[in-house]
Amino acid sequence: MKIAELYQRKKTVISFEIFPPKKEADLEGIDRILAELGELSPDFISVTYSAGGMNNSAATFDIASKIQNEHQILSLAHMTCINSTPEQVAGNLEKAKLLGIENIMALRGDIPADYTGTPHYLYAKDLIAKIKKEQPQICIGAAAYTEGHTDCESVELGVEHLKQKADAGADFFVTQLFFDNRFFYEFYDKTLAVGLDLPISAGIMPILSKSQIEKMIFMCGASLPARIVKMLGKYENSPEDLKKAAMEYSAEQINDLIAHKVDGVHIYTMNRPEIARGNLEKIRYGNRI
Ligand code: FAD
Repeated sequence: MKIAELYQRKKTVISFEIFPPKKEADLEGIDRILAELGELSPDFISVTYSAGGMNNSAATFDIASKIQNEHQILSLAHMTCINSTPEQVAGNLEKAKLLGIENIMALRGDIPADYTGTPHYLYAKDLIAKIKKEQPQICIGAAAYTEGHTDCESVELGVEHLKQKADAGADFFVTQLFFDNRFFYEFYDKTLAVGLDLPISAGIMPILSKSQIEKMIFMCGASLPARIVKMLGKYENSPEDLKKAAMEYSAEQINDLIAHKVDGVHIYTMNRPEIARGNLEKIRYGNRI
C-alpha cells in the first residue's frame, strides 16, 4: 500500500521513525523495538539510511521489509543520494522491489565536510526524478524544513525547493523536527501559497537530555522556545524530571497539531518505544483518530 493513500483516508496519519542499529549484531534488538512500537498501531514506520553507506545503512531495506512482513505495519525506507552512483541507486531500487517495499523517502543526505567529488545527484529532487524514471510505481516521500534547511538562505526559498521536489514526483513530505508549532503553521501556509497541495507530516522529537538537544539544534538549526530553555535550566541536575517535563511538552505539541488537523505527525522515536508510547498516551481523547 502507498503511504500517500493513507493521508486520503485518515484524519491525522501517525508515524514513527527508527534507525538501524549501529552493529549488525544488534539487529536482533530491533524486533523487540518493533513489537513495542507495533502495539501503538502506527500508520507507518520509517527507517533511516546513513549517507555514505556508514552505520549499517545496508540494513535499512531489510528492516523496512521486516516491518511489513513480520510486524504487518507499512514501512518507509529512507535512501540518500549524495554519495551514490546511478548503479547504486538502481541496485537499491531493485532490492526494494524484491522486498516488496513500495514507499521510499528520497533524501540528499548531508554533504560530508571533507567531500571534494562531483555528485551524480546534487539534490534530493534528482534522486526523486531517478526513482520516478526507474520505478514509477514507488510512492515517494521527501524532507521539508519548517525553519529552513541549514544551507538555505530563507524559508521561502526552501519552499521553492520543496515545490521542485513535488514537480519531480514527490508524493508527500515529512518535516525536520521543530519545537514551536507556529513555525509549522506558517510554513504550511507558505506551501499553500505556492500551490503545493501535498500532505505534510509534522516531525516531532521528544527531548531526552540537554546534550541530545544541543547536538540536534546544532545539526538542524531548530529554534528553542524560552519554555524549553527554562526547562533545561531547571532540570539540569535532574535528568528524569527533564524527561518527564519534555514528554509533557511534546505531547502538548502533538495535541495542538492534531487539533489543527495536520496531515500527519511523525515521531522521531530514537529507537525508544517508551517515548512514542508516552506521547501517544497523552493525546487527548477527543484528538484520537
Ligand atoms: P535537498 O532537498 O536536496 O536540499 C538540500 C539543500 O539544497 C537545501 O538547503 C535546499 O534548500 C537546497 N536546494 C534544493 N534544491 C535546490 C536547487 N534547485 N538549487 C539550489 N539549492 C537547492 N539524512 C540521512 O543521512 N539519512 C536519513 O535517513 C535522513 N532522514 C531524514 C528524514 C527527514 C524527515 C528529514 C527532514 C531529514 C533527514 N535526513 C536524513 C537529513 C537530510 O539528509 C539533510 O537535511 C540533508 O542535508 C538535506 O537533504 P534533503 O533531502 O532535504 O536535500
